[in-house]
Amino acid sequence: MTSLLPALRGASGRTDSPEAVRFGEHVLTYARLADASASLAVRIAAAGRVAVWATSTPETVVAVVAALRAGVPAVPLNPRTGERELAHIVADSAPSVVLAGADDVLPSALGGLERLDVETAAAAPSPEAALPEPSEDSPALVVYTSGTTGPPKGAVLPRRAIAASLDALEDAWGWTGEDVLVHALPLFHVHGLVLGVLGPLRRGGSLRHLGRFSVEGVARELLSGGTMLFGVPTMYHRLAGALDGAADGGNLTKALAGARLLVSGSAALPVHDHERITAATGRGVVERYGMTETLMNTGVRADGAPRAGTVGPPLPGVELRLVEEDGSVLQDTASIGEIQVRGPNLFTGYLNRPDATAAAFTEDGFFRTGDMATVDPDGYVRIVGRKATDLIKSGGYKIGAGEIENALLDHPGVREAAVTGEPDADLGERIVAWVVPDDPASPPGERELADHVAGLLAPHKRPRVVRYLDALPRNELGKIMKRSLGV
Ligand code: ATP
Ligand code: MG
Repeated sequence: MTSLLPALRGASGRTDSPEAVRFGEHVLTYARLADASASLAVRIAAAGRVAVWATSTPETVVAVVAALRAGVPAVPLNPRTGERELAHIVADSAPSVVLAGADDVLPSALGGLERLDVETAAAAPSPEAALPEPSEDSPALVVYTSGTTGPPKGAVLPRRAIAASLDALEDAWGWTGEDVLVHALPLFHVHGLVLGVLGPLRRGGSLRHLGRFSVEGVARELLSGGTMLFGVPTMYHRLAGALDGAADGGNLTKALAGARLLVSGSAALPVHDHERITAATGRGVVERYGMTETLMNTGVRADGAPRAGTVGPPLPGVELRLVEEDGSVLQDTASIGEIQVRGPNLFTGYLNRPDATAAAFTEDGFFRTGDMATVDPDGYVRIVGRKATDLIKSGGYKIGAGEIENALLDHPGVREAAVTGEPDADLGERIVAWVVPDDPASPPGERELADHVAGLLAPHKRPRVVRYLDALPRNELGKIMKRSLGV
């Protein structure tokens, strides 16, 4: 296999080297990144596995790239993880060393690990010896799932899967070394790390990380050379709100309208937010659908037409099918089935979980995503929600939480909405709407919201109970944690 990060080969020592990553004032050229990562790679080459304290800093990029070059699997850790979950991840992944920044204060759950300071190790003289390219089946990363439906599981991602998924996105998005990615996502999930960091680096392009997401930062970077934005739905929600307010004198509109590609993923982009952005900027948001275990499965192509509520067709190399509860493949894809995928983008298994790994695959090698969807006649996938938390069986109907959430968000008095099912003696399950009102002093009434949904969708999709909250429980990617809503 060709190198995973070919742009780093031969970059070392060059004085005309282009920019690779920028965090505010801090810039790493390809030459600097090649030198720093090679030095660190030599230091960690004998380790079995390394943990990376994945703050949103250049050190995290150097650490992950060094591990990839050394052929040592890296385990990115979310610095905001609670002690108990962190202890679980460390015990599960058993790294021999943790790579961190000089100023990072590490919690006691990491106390037993040797610590290596990235800047110091990376500043050592660069070795001349070429780093051999590890085999394509060797594990590159162990990324823990978001823990939305249960305790996080460590997905082992081979180099082949990362290369295949990034190359499929190159094909779909015409992604080149000229692209400058505007990035504001954390660096310990697939979205921010594999797509957001390894993506630009594999193409020989660059990324600019905002540290923290801000509407102003996005507008500024897109107006000064940024070509692509990768975001999660909560970011697009904030961008849509800012466009409505037009407080920026048209800068944001110009920035979003001028970007080559606006991409959303990690959770469903509410139709309402998508439509507001299109109305203001004249353009669509490209949605893509992926998972820690499968990397990217589908995505609207750069030359395709974004359609609110869809995540586009399967990416090149990905086979996708919908399956009924009895395991048979759905022929009529207008009805809801579970998405199963097969392709070079798949992980090899969950760390230390042969049971969960075996249960996740079918006999013919498809991965059971646990996500429910329909497929439009032209192949665009519409995700309805997760089998475990978003599929409500009420009164003999199978109802997806997503479309009810979209309908609720269409009500002017609703700021955020989540829908769950709850046991009901009559219906089997009843539909419960969790609503964050726009104005807590005068929230829209239960009856009004139920009528609104029934009017837009169908009478059997009417929420039976409405519960009002100040905010929905979300993780750092903005995913709604339905576990915390009792599902
Ligand atoms: P866990 O597996 O630990 O419960 P998780 O599934 O949230 O957590 P991830 O692997 O980070 O962990 O997320 C993958 C899931 O995110 C997908 O299975 C899907 O449910 C959801 N998802 C990702 N992209 C999209 C999208 N564009 N639209 C709708 N859902 C999406
Ligand atoms: Mg999952």
